[in-house]
Parts: sequence; C-alpha cells; structure tokens
Amino acid sequence: MSLDAPRVGCVDTPVLRERGQREVFCGLTGIVWLHRKMQDAFFLVVGSRTCAHLLQSAAGVMIFAEPRFGTAVLEEKDLAGLADANVELDTVVARLIARRPDIRQLFIVGSCPSEVIKLDLSRAAERLNTAHAPHVRIYSYSGSGIETTFTQGEDACLAAMVPALPATQDAGLLVVGALPDVVEDQALALLHALGVGPVHFLPSRRAAEAATVGPNTHYVLTQPFLGDTAAALDRRGARRVVAPFPFGEEGTTLWLSAVARAFGVPEARFDAVTAAPRARARKAVAAHAETLMGKSLFFFPDSQLELPLARFLARECGMRPLEVGTPFLHRALMEPELALLPEGPVISEGQDVDRQLDRHAVQSPDLTVCGLGLANPLEAAGHATKWAIELVFTPVHFYEQAGDLANLFARPLRRRALLAGGAA
Ligand code: SF4
Repeated sequence: MSLDAPRVGCVDTPVLRERGQREVFCGLTGIVWLHRKMQDAFFLVVGSRTCAHLLQSAAGVMIFAEPRFGTAVLEEKDLAGLADANVELDTVVARLIARRPDIRQLFIVGSCPSEVIKLDLSRAAERLNTAHAPHVRIYSYSGSGIETTFTQGEDACLAAMVPALPATQDAGLLVVGALPDVVEDQALALLHALGVGPVHFLPSRRAAEAATVGPNTHYVLTQPFLGDTAAALDRRGARRVVAPFPFGEEGTTLWLSAVARAFGVPEARFDAVTAAPRARARKAVAAHAETLMGKSLFFFPDSQLELPLARFLARECGMRPLEVGTPFLHRALMEPELALLPEGPVISEGQDVDRQLDRHAVQSPDLTVCGLGLANPLEAAGHATKWAIELVFTPVHFYEQAGDLANLFARPLRRRALLAGGAA
C-alpha cells in the first residue's frame, strides 16, 4: 500500500485502551490442544495444585493412554526457598524420561508460582538438554496467568521451539499454528494443488518432522495470537506472508492468494484449485447466515481471535459488530484484518471488565462472545453468549470448516429463539 492510498475499514479507528481488572484464563490452557497435536511431546508444568487442577479439569483424565502432561507441584518448602527446586526438577525429569522412552520433546512450563519464586526454567532447560539430548529435546516457556491470555501459551511454546529449528537455505513454506490434523491435511492438499512447496508445519506432529528455516523460507500464520513466534522467525531470517487469517471463505481465499503470490502461482491455476471449495464454503456459510444476518455482536477480549472473527461475521454473515475487544492489538499482524472490518464498531484493547460490562449493558447486543467466567452471569441476565474458548478447541480454519464456524455463532441464537418460543 502506498503512503497516500486511502485508508479503509477500521485501520484508522481510534483504539480504546483499557488496563483494569481482566477475566481471562492463563496460558497453561494451551497444553490441552498442544499435547494432542505434538504426539511425542510431554508438558511438565512447574506449578501449584491450582495449576494441576486447571489442567486436569480442562484436558480431562486420559484413561486408556499414558498422559502427556503433568504438574511438578511446588510444595510449601519450595515456595519458602527451603528446598532446592532445581535439584528436585532434575530428579523428576530424569525419572520421567527413564519411564517414557516415547517422549522426544519435553516442555517445562512455568506458572505463576514458579515466576513468583523466580525459578529460572530457561536455565533449567539448558542444563537438562545437556543431560538428555539428543534423545529428548527440552524447551521451556511460561504459561503463567500474570499479564497473559490463554492463547499466549501456544505463542510462547512455538516461539521457544524456533531457535532450535534446523537451518536451511532452501525455499519453502512454513505454516505456523497448531491446527487439528484433519484441517492441516486439508491445507496441505490445497497448497500441493497450487504447486506450493515444500510445506512444513510448526508445530509438527512429531519431533523428527521438525520444520527447517532460513532466509528463503516464507512463513504464514494461521492464528492471530502468534506475535512472539513471528518475531522469532523474523530473527531467523524467514519472511512473513502478510495476509488475513484463514477464517471463512473470504479469509481462506485471501490467505491462500497471498501465499500463491509469494510462490508465483499463476492466477488461472489458483482459480481452478479454489473454485469448488470456495463455492462449497459459501453455500455452507449461507445456511447459517440467515440466522446471523442483521444481528448485533459484542466481543469481550479473550482469545485474540476477535478481530478476524468479527471480520468474518460482518462480511460473510451480515452481523453488526458493536464492540470488538481484544486482549492485545498486534498492529503488524492485524492490519489486513482491520482493513477488511467494516467501519462502525468500537475497537478496544485490554480490559477493565466493569466498565466494559457497563458498555455491554447499554448496547444489549443480540450475541456476546466472551470467556467462561462472564458467560454464565450474562446468560442469566438474558443474553445469548458464545464461549470464546470453544473457538480454539473446534476445527474452524479453511474452506471446509467455514460453515461450522458460522454455525458456532448461529447455535446460541437459535437456542435462545427456541427458548423464547419465537424464530431467530
Ligand atoms: S499458572 Fe497461574 S493462573 Fe494458571 S492455573 Fe497456575 S496459578 Fe492459576
């Protein structure tokens, strides 16, 4: 875009910045989907019994499989500095690796308590790597809830992996973000059909399939909350493909076309490959857009998916976003989304939950997207809500999931209409 090009959408909308009480989950939540994605990884949280309870209740207990996450519980004597937590950590890790030879990647995950007692887990990971490499690669990152949101756990995890990715001078595409396997396979099929390759994914399903990275690597994000991972890839010399995120028919098409341009794919080939799935996606979205059309929408900040989803719901489903709250607005990553989002909504960053609830009460939107903590009281007050966390547990990317994505938002409206005995 040239400097004097007209600014469009919400690019110039002033951002309401709030820094007050927040209602969000911590980054440990990411372990729930990351451990399913990385099949030979183990996540060892160094934390409290609260952290262990959060993980157990969020991820459920695995009955038939050996678990691939656990918590090294810091006891009172650790918190009081009466025991050497590093020695205990080394013992726990050695025991775990001896018992589980299938583990090839071990993530030591910091928490609020480990940060409060200033346990240096990055040094611990270096020390443990010396002891256990090359059989097991050990990383550390923080999942603490101090000043973070739940999707930042994935960002911190992937950013921690980037420095260890093998170097290459070869050209290729790196697709970044933990996608369900079925969605990853669909993306790969489309990219292959376009002639883009070789394609790697971060994270890969297994350590042996780890991506390579270098100055001829293009990378493209599938999730908007991966700012630190993008910065780490930039430091490795990789080049980011600037695109909106692949939600809905339009988002997916723009995402694929940005990749196709970077790899010199002819337009005719692009059109031939995308025509049928685009038509399928449009049809699938239209089935739910009837329910969503004209309805107002309010996003509390939670997942960092808010801006791309508001864009999808406004442009493809005809909804009217009133406020789009995001925990953190990463301008460089969000510029294409802001340009597409129709003017009108308040864009807010951060949270002062009481003030935002007041704005919400005044607006009284048809649908509210928020965290679990706010959903129940808002439902009780008569609002239709959608849990933001469902959006990271459900396959929602690319063409074949576009209809499901629209349906996630249409369902609460239909349910409420049924309860009220009317039509949505
Ligand atoms: S990391 Fe912090 S916010 Fe998360 S469960 Fe542990 S104590 Fe709670």
